[in-house]
This record gives sequence, structure tokens and C-alpha cells, in this order.
Amino acid sequence: MQKVRVPITVDPVKSAGKQLTYLGTVPGKSLVRLQEMLIEPCADVDVSLSFDTDEQGIKRISGNAQVTVQACCERCGESMGLTLASTFIYAPVTRRQAATDMPDEYEPFELDEMGEVNLHTLVEDELILAMPVVVKHDERECRVDTHAMQWGNVDDTPDVSDNPFAVLQELKRK
Ligand SMILES: [Zn+2]
Repeated sequence: MQKVRVPITVDPVKSAGKQLTYLGTVPGKSLVRLQEMLIEPCADVDVSLSFDTDEQGIKRISGNAQVTVQACCERCGESMGLTLASTFIYAPVTRRQAATDMPDEYEPFELDEMGEVNLHTLVEDELILAMPVVVKHDERECRVDTHAMQWGNVDDTPDVSDNPFAVLQELKRK
């Protein structure tokens, strides 16, 4: 299948009826919220999407998205490559299908006033969720020496009252 530009918005109910599939890309430059978390322009995201109806008759969008990005290590401040990947199933909430009737692995979503969903936003949400909570290198690859950092942390503890040696020093002075 030839790679296509994934459309921005589609009617997921109609698309499910037609069993449409897309193997394509979402332009990285349109993902403004994700870009804020990165230090280099986001590459185009590889996306596959298929619209169909499950055994229960629920219209759904199944797909996956993957992109490699450059973020900033929170420990050493150097750039690091991250592969963000996500697999998902979304199902629109409509008069015929309530969120409560859907299997747990489906993520229900509301349609806009046109009865459409923004696929680029959906992919962006998935990639943001795929970002690690703390971006940092493996210890072996990081420029900051973890051993040195642990000592630094001890020095940063200013609470003298918790320090038994401080009490000893007080005693010696008396
Ligand atoms: Zn690092």
C-alpha cells in the first residue's frame, strides 16, 4: 500500500462503514503540543489506522503510531533519541453506542459538531502519553556521573536537626 498523508479530520462512523484503512504519515510540524517537549523538529509520524465494526457492532478506529524524536535528558541536559510508539483502539460515542457498552480496551471519544474526529490530535495525544514521565539516559550513557550526584544530594540536605553528627558537635561544644 502506498503511504499517504493521513487526513486531519474524518467521519469515523462512515469510515467504519466503508472499512477504510490508512497507512501514512502525520506531519511532525503539525504536532505543536508534542513539539514543546522536544529539542529538535519532530519528524513525520508513521501511522496506520483502520476503521471497522467489531463483533458487537461497535464502530471503532484501531491503529498505531510511531516516531523517533530528540528530547533533552533531565539529568545531563544533552539530547537523547526516544522512539515513541503507541497502539490504540478508539470508538466514537454516538446515539447508538454508549461509552459504557464498550470493551475496556476501547477509548471512547466525543465527535465534534460535524460528526468528525481530528486524527492528528488523536495521534498527538497518543504520542504525548508515550513520552516517559522523566526523560533521561540510561546511567551508562548519561554524561552525569550518578555516583557524584548521590554525594551532591547528601550535601544538599540542609536540615541539621536530622543530622546525628550535628548533635554530637553540639555536645562537644558544651
Ligand atoms: Zn543524560
